Parts: sequence; structure tokens; C-alpha cells
Amino acid sequence: TTDLEGLTALVTGGASGIGLAVASLLAERGARVAVLDLDPASLKEPLRGFTADVSDDTSVRAAVDAAAAVLGGIDILVNNAGIGAIGSIEDNPDEQWHRVLDVNLLGVVRATRAALPYLRRSAHASVVNLGSIVTTTGLPQRALYSASKGAVLSLTLAMAADHVREGIRVNCVNPGTVDTPWVGRLLEAAPDPAAERAALSARQPIGRLITAEEVAAAIVYLASPAAASVTGTALAVDGGMAGL
Ligand code: NAD
Repeated sequence: TTDLEGLTALVTGGASGIGLAVASLLAERGARVAVLDLDPASLKEPLRGFTADVSDDTSVRAAVDAAAAVLGGIDILVNNAGIGAIGSIEDNPDEQWHRVLDVNLLGVVRATRAALPYLRRSAHASVVNLGSIVTTTGLPQRALYSASKGAVLSLTLAMAADHVREGIRVNCVNPGTVDTPWVGRLLEAAPDPAAERAALSARQPIGRLITAEEVAAAIVYLASPAAASVTGTALAVDGGMAGL
């Protein structure tokens, strides 16, 4: 279907993994799509890349304005850019806490703040933030990452409340373990990547990792006019992990 024809979308961190799957699906469904990423060089038509770092407010504002000019506005913003951190609270020094919160939490604030003037002009304005299974389920060795994503979930609810009267919806998707380059890098760091992948898959209630396309489908649903009365929610795409 091309139900998103006439709509415009901006995806942060859209050059890889979940973000790339979201940008591709939005374009397939008829939207005009721009990607904001540290390195958008690998993007192919019709996706348009804009270089920016979500931890740098000036670069985010410039890229959002440039993307809105090329697209002719912004109806949909997907705040997907994010980085990981492994460890308990004893393992990450303060500088790393500041860095991960700067990207994962403040990155959402900066991109949304820059996009709000455009979203306000849209008749179908929607923001989707990337949370995680860790927002609702305590997993070992994820203290800093969980804190950053838990804050994104709470921020989603607050932003939904602040902007609902302006017609801007804000929702969150909480993926479980998704087979992206990010998880690929984690597996490669293990002594036996294949065994680690099998063990990780076995730990998922559905018995396998989630695909980026499955997460993208949930994000695009929330972003689309089909979800016109859905705001301030979190949708888990976690293979049953949080609920089972
Ligand atoms: P990925 O590493 O494959 O892709 C992330 C993209 O974000 C990359 O293109 C990267 O260049 C970009 N990026 C990183 N820092 C940036 C910055 N400062 N400014 C602009 N762009 C930046 O990751 P992924 O697995 O696709 O994850 C995407 C999102 O989904 C993240 O927010 C992550 O926390 C979340 N998530 C992932 C999983 C998973 O299992 N992969 C699970 C739950 C949530």
C-alpha cells in the first residue's frame, strides 16, 4: 500500500539497522523520507541523507531545517539514533553516563525540539521514540543503557501530554533483541559468536531474534494516520520477553 503518499518523514540514525528498515518501509509506503545520521553516505535513493550528530544541538537544528526544506515539511519524526553501554553501575565512569544520556535521551529532545515547528504545521503529526525491552524489564549488565531508555519512555508520556492539544502524537516502541549491525558487533565481541547467537536466540520466548523489519512495521503503524487516536503508549516488539 502507498497509504503514506503525501506525508514526509525524518528518521534519526536511519543509516543502519532498525532506522534503515523504518526509513525504507516509510518510503515504500509512499512517504518522502530523510535520514539524519552521523554517516548517511551509504543511503540509497529515494532516501535522502543529512549528516548530523544528535548530541550536537547546532548540527541537529541545521539538519532538521535542511531536511524539512527538501521534504516540504515534517509530518513524522522517528527518534531512533542511539548507542549502547554494557555494565552495572560500577562499570561505567561518569563521562560514559554523560555521553550515553547525551545521545539516547537528549538526542530525542534536540531532534524533537527542532522538528516541532514543522510538526505543528502538519495535519498528521507523529513522533515515535525508540525505547527498549529494558524500560520495563530489568536485565543484567545494562544499568546505564536502561536508565537512558527508561527516561525516553517517561519523556514519551510527557511529550504526548504536552503536545496532544496541538495534534501531535508521541509514542514509543520497545524492541527486544533485534538482529541489527549493533547486535552483530556485540556477538562478534564474544569468544564464539555463533554459539553466542544460538544462546541469545534460545533465551527469546519466540526462539529467535527479532528482525529490524518487524520493529519497523510497529513504528510505521504508530507513525501513520491509522494510529490517529494512539498517543502516549509503548508498544513492545520483544518476542514475548516482557510479558512471558
Ligand atoms: P545500529 O547501531 O545498527 O544503528 C544506529 C544508527 O544510529 C547508526 O546508523 C548510527 O550511525 C546512528 N547514530 C548513532 N549515534 C548517533 C548520533 N550521535 N547522531 C546521529 N546518528 C547516530 O543500531 P540499531 O540496533 O538499529 O538500534 C537503533 C535504535 O533501536 C537505538 O535507539 C537502540 O537503542 C534501539 N534498540 C535496539 C535494539 C537491538 O536489539 N538492536 C533493541 C532495543 C532498542
